[in-house]
This record gives sequence, C-alpha cells and structure tokens, in this order.
Amino acid sequence: MFVYADNAATTAVSKKVVEAMLPYYTEVYGNPSSLYTVGQKAKEALEDARERVAKLIGAKPREIYFTSGGSEADNQAIISAARLGAKKGKKHIISTKFEHHAVLHTLQALEKEGFEITLVDVHENGVVVPSEIEAAIREDTALVTVMYANNEIGTIQPIAEIGAICKAKGVLFHTDAVQAISHVHINVVEQNIDMLSISAHKFHGPKGVGVLYARGGIVLTNVINGGAQERGKRAGTENLAGIVGMTVALEDAIAHIDENNEKFAKLQDKLIDGLSKIPYSELNGDRNSRVKSNVNFCFEGIEGESLLLLLDDKGISVSSGSACTSGSLDPSHVLLAIGRPHEVAHGSLRISLGEDVTEEQVDYIVKSVTEVVEYLRGFSPFWDDLVEGKRPHVFKESSIA
Ligand SMILES: *Cc1c(COP(=O)(O)O)cnc(C)c1O
Repeated sequence: MFVYADNAATTAVSKKVVEAMLPYYTEVYGNPSSLYTVGQKAKEALEDARERVAKLIGAKPREIYFTSGGSEADNQAIISAARLGAKKGKKHIISTKFEHHAVLHTLQALEKEGFEITLVDVHENGVVVPSEIEAAIREDTALVTVMYANNEIGTIQPIAEIGAICKAKGVLFHTDAVQAISHVHINVVEQNIDMLSISAHKFHGPKGVGVLYARGGIVLTNVINGGAQERGKRAGTENLAGIVGMTVALEDAIAHIDENNEKFAKLQDKLIDGLSKIPYSELNGDRNSRVKSNVNFCFEGIEGESLLLLLDDKGISVSSGSACTSGSLDPSHVLLAIGRPHEVAHGSLRISLGEDVTEEQVDYIVKSVTEVVEYLRGFSPFWDDLVEGKRPHVFKESSIA
C-alpha cells in the first residue's frame, strides 16, 4: 500500500490546477509587462488572479504581492517592518520560539544588525498566550510576528486576539499562515492582520509561488531588486502560470475547508487513539487547538529517522522532527520549545493528512507504526536502559486518559 501522509511538507498539484496552468505556458505566454496583445492578456490574467486571491482573505487587490513562496514572503514582511521601525528608532521585534526557519533565520540576521528579538514561550501545549505577547510589547517594538499554525505540531495560535492587541498598541503584526490558510477561515481585516504569508505548494498548488499580503499604507522593502513588477516591490517577470495555479488551488482549498476538516477530524481521532496505545508515547501539541490534518507523536527509545525510513519501506511517506537528513543532528526546535527533552524529541513522527487519505490507510499507518516502534525498540540500547530502570522514563506507560 502506498500512503502519502506528509502534506505539511508539500502536496500533489491537483489535476484541475495543472489544467488551469497549462494555457499560460503555451498560449498566453506573453510577458505581463509587454504592451502587445499577448502580453496584455497575460497582464489581465495576473490582475484577475490578484483580485481573486485578495477576495479570499478579505484584502484589496493592491495589498497582494506575488512572491516565490512562503519563505520569501516571510523574509520580505519581516525585513520591511524592521526597516520601517528603524526609521522611527524602533528596533525590537517579538516572535515565538517555534516559528518556521524562514522567520527565525530572518530574525537572527536582523539581530546581527542590532535589532533586539524577544521570542515568547509556546508552552507545553504549543499555543502562545496573547497576554504574554502584550506584556512583551515595548515603546520600541517594530513588529510582532506569530505563525498561524505550526508546521510540525499543527497547533493553531490565537491570531485574532494577538491582532487586536497589536492594533490597540499600534504595532505591526505579521503572521506566517502557510500551514493555516487551507484549514482555518482567515480574514485579514476581521483578524487585524497587517501582513500575512502563504505558499501555494502546501494546498495543491505549484511549488515556487506564494503571496505576501501587506495592508495598504505599509511600505515594503524589496528583497529582490530589479524591474518594476509588483508595484515596484518585487522584481522579476511574474510566474504567471504558477500564480494562476495558486489562485485556483486556493479557491478550491478555501471552499472545502469545513468539509475537509470534518473528514480529517475523524481520521485524526483514529490516529491519535491508535498511536496512544503504543507504550511510552505521547501526542505533541494541544489536542484541540490544532489543524485537523496534523498528528505528531514522540516515542521513547526511538530514532525518528529510522522510524521514517522503515515506514517508507512499508510504502508510507511521513516525516520526523529529527533532522539528520538535513545535515544536522539537532532535534526539532519546535519539540524543544514545547519542553520535550532531547532524547524524546529525537523520536518524533509527523503525519499530515491529505484529502486522498482513506480510513483503511489510517489503519495501515497505525498498524505499521506500532510494529516498527516495537521492532526498533527491540535492539535499542537506549530502550534497554529504560526497561532496566537505568534511566527514568519521560512518559507514562499509557497516555490514554
Ligand atoms: C512550508 C513553509 C514555509 C516555506 O514556504 P516555501 O514556499 O516552501 O518557501 C514557511 N512557513 C511555514 C509555516 C511552512 O510550513
């Protein structure tokens, strides 16, 4: 059986999206900046996409900037707010400990330039407390940036409440909504979001295209310099086919949020119930305030990497928080941020559901994970130490309430 359950890493482009994109490679291939007809047709399609995307999040078309994806949108939002703040002598930025690296690494670069960064706690449940953001805001705070839903553990943050606090305090507020846009209803006006990042490939659109929404009046700083595309704020010939594909994918995703959530919730319950039966295991992140497609577990005495490779042998594509393949032996900063000790943070597994995943496949995942965890523990010296009482267990034998 083949099961793709890593939809938080990327998704398949839907047929409908591919079909919508094709004419923009072969027929309407003009450069939107060209004045002749095929260029102007491309320009029309570009502006049509901008209007449609804006409408989906409650924004105005001129507030939508097309980028190369979520990482670029995060970089540009944060750098822009930093430059605007610095002009007024504000060089303090607030974020959280478990942001995506597109945010954290941009903040680290700004720190080297003399900005001061406060990363608020995300607590054991992986949810930010809005009053702690409020308490961290200072006279010189230029920006608050908090992700909408975490990419590893799926926890949803109280974005509207944080937005209201930032508005009252007169501080710019950005949210990385890459993992949320297809799972939660988002309206930038109602939720007081000044800037927001999304990425097409997380909702069945193509890779390499995304959106930065920036409220009117916010002057962006270019991260890509060159031509005058995107109102002069993002140079480079527009990825029109990608933008059209993203628009169709986003309309589709948002139209099906409730229906998908209902379906995912059942499968999520089944996965959590099933995996909780594995001794010395625990769910990561809040049980309720999380996207319905995400399940993330830690298992004691396991290397996440080995778990994921053995599951791959069984045809299951999932991901692990430990990042040996990405050239680092450090456990996930997200799992450390929610207080998991190093030794269990290494033994994590993320399952992220997609529309195609069936109940039968979920049963197969539970069965396979249970077998593989038992198998790996069978020759883990670390597990032997736990069994022999040479090390204390981190989790209870049973996590079933
Ligand atoms: C995937 C992801 C990104 C990066 O988006 P890309 O389009 O791959 O650059 C940023 N933030 C979060 C939360 C993500 O999950």
